[in-house]
Amino acid sequence: MPIQIIRNDITKLNCDAIVNAANSSLLGGGGVDGAIHRAAGPELLEACRKLGGCPTGEARITKGYRLPGKYVIHTVGPVWQGGGRGERELLVSCYRESLRLALEYQCETVAFPLISSGVYGYPKDQALKVAVDTIGEFLLEHELFVYLVIFDRASYTIGEKLFADIRSYIDDRYVELHGDTGRSRSPWEETSSLPPLSSAPFLEEPVVPGEFEEASFDRREPLPAACPAKSSPDAAGKERTAFGKSGLDDALAQIDESFSQMLLRKIDEKGMTDAQCYKRANMDRKLFSKIRGNVWYKPKKQTAVAFAITLELSLEETKELLMKAGFALSHSSKFDIIIEYFIENGNYNVFEINEALFAFDQSLLGA
Ligand code: ADP
Repeated sequence: MPIQIIRNDITKLNCDAIVNAANSSLLGGGGVDGAIHRAAGPELLEACRKLGGCPTGEARITKGYRLPGKYVIHTVGPVWQGGGRGERELLVSCYRESLRLALEYQCETVAFPLISSGVYGYPKDQALKVAVDTIGEFLLEHELFVYLVIFDRASYTIGEKLFADIRSYIDDRYVELHGDTGRSRSPWEETSSLPPLSSAPFLEEPVVPGEFEEASFDRREPLPAACPAKSSPDAAGKERTAFGKSGLDDALAQIDESFSQMLLRKIDEKGMTDAQCYKRANMDRKLFSKIRGNVWYKPKKQTAVAFAITLELSLEETKELLMKAGFALSHSSKFDIIIEYFIENGNYNVFEINEALFAFDQSLLGA
């Protein structure tokens, strides 16, 4: 089941459980801890008193009281002391123990803040990576929907080098495309100022996780025309050569393949199971069943790209899969250029790509 990075106040989320970055006394503090206690009311403090504290790296659970969610899972993150004092292992343990408790209490949706990244001083890009990696790994084996909640813009950052690399990659490609206007238009002109995080959506209303509707891709960038039902003779010729050794019949059959058929074929060719594929793609099982059950299913662009990444398709194959769903990769879209960047760098980690997409204020891959 998927992990989603969102920007919100965790106390507003209507999840089965929200996780609190507590201190070892469990008697309340500042930051997210204070916000959770304020929103939950004094009953939460009463319940915490009875727990008698919690060691670093472990987790405890209470009811949510006046919060929209049923439970609060309290975990104690490590204080950053330079990284050589087992901080990473302790932080990993916070996420694992909290997730384990969530499962034990039959939670289906859980929201985490970025533990230790506030007063406890864990470098934010590293804290985020530990969170995404640990939750991602857990979700390969377990059915849960996890929100990773980023509260303030300043608290969010991917690694500086990665950010700079992607930025210059986008710059180069945007300039290529817009260079004929007499001046080099920067992609950042469309947002007010740097960093691009500043225009990220901030959700005021509680988020209610539910069914995942597939809709058209709705980014600001213009969409490419939908692909025709049958390929033109030219396109067919190109596709045929791309099929290499497969026979003419196979090649012709593949030209008329739908998105769903091509996806299932690729999953087989890669020797993956359906579950491995949708989990790595950060996808919900129900959504995958819909795609499997409907030969003409039309996915959102993020969904189609997530599968291409999970299947480790080349850029050409990715374009082919996207075309089956009526999409293309274009240099007038930051989202598309970021995807191209990761494919060209051979990095097919959906969660890492999502961190970068989030940092550049783009829609995330998966559900
Ligand atoms: P820690 O002591 O573990 O560092 P903090 O509460 O100081 O805990 O910060 C943890 C993270 O929680 C920080 O990134 C901070 O920005 C974030 N945060 C603070 N308040 C909220 C909130 N209401 N919702 C979600 N995240 C929050």
